[in-house]
Amino acid sequence: MREVRELGADVHLIDTAMSGFDGIVAAYAILGDRPCLVETGTATSAPVVREALGRLGVGAEDLATIVVTHIHLDHAGGVGDLAAAFPKAQIVVQDTGARHLADPSKLMASARRVFGPVMDELFGELLPTDAARIQAIGDVGSVDLGGGRQLRAYHTPGHARHHLGLVDSATGDLYVGDAAGLYIPDEGADARTGLGPGGDMGEMMPGTPPPDFDLDLAVASLHRMRDLGAQRLLFSHYGPISRVDDSLARAEEEMRVWVEAVRDARRDGAGRGAEFDLDHAVAMVRDRVKDRYAGLAARPEEAAKFEGLSSAAANVSGIARWLEARGE
Ligand SMILES: [Zn+2]
Repeated sequence: MREVRELGADVHLIDTAMSGFDGIVAAYAILGDRPCLVETGTATSAPVVREALGRLGVGAEDLATIVVTHIHLDHAGGVGDLAAAFPKAQIVVQDTGARHLADPSKLMASARRVFGPVMDELFGELLPTDAARIQAIGDVGSVDLGGGRQLRAYHTPGHARHHLGLVDSATGDLYVGDAAGLYIPDEGADARTGLGPGGDMGEMMPGTPPPDFDLDLAVASLHRMRDLGAQRLLFSHYGPISRVDDSLARAEEEMRVWVEAVRDARRDGAGRGAEFDLDHAVAMVRDRVKDRYAGLAARPEEAAKFEGLSSAAANVSGIARWLEARGE
């Protein structure tokens, strides 16, 4: 049975077990008068999430809201399946992503182009949701959790155009989606704070995939999130971290280091008169950043799981695309 972890104040982390892996893609349930699911995981994870919600006592008629931080398939791929399984739930998404949940054909076609034949195994098929059940949020919005509790939503583009950060008014928990990259807790980290013994943070990696990654927007979003005064961050990949300012500052640093490394790799190629070579750039960037993740290098299986979810090649190509568009 997959992990369902109590995080306090009626919040529960659900391991969606993407591709059968533990501890890489989380969804969260906020219970109360109006139970809310934050993130669905992939379509292939929908049965896992449904079972977990059942264990938490959320019946088919009970779920009030499904919110996704953005529409990438590891976060929103299960929306169609779960909307069908929980017929009273309203679906909340950033405005730019809303039409793709109602009609996923374009999103699925572009995902098939990117991922090819492993697509079905990785993500499965995002099914359409009745447009009448979708609530689109522009710059700010809110989700009623019942009992005066709210989830306040803020547009936080950079990783993706259609990205929202969400703050729980009762706890100060901030659901960061992928706006701050990935958080990989150390082995034996505290279940609710995400910190190791002695208060140490785990590893952080950037999430800068094509086609949307934009450093300026991403940094502005990190600053917007920092100014919300959150008490804890809840990462979709993976779990809680209570050192809010340190993590957001580290996320910015990670992005800047990677962008600088890709910029240098592009200049190196241009200096030799060569076309931009992704494999060469990935090798250069990997070499440049490897010392930053020494802790993870000692845990090769863990590193491989996260590499499968958010690869160095995807991050480098997202950054290269952004630099290219700026003529850098
Ligand atoms: Zn993600």
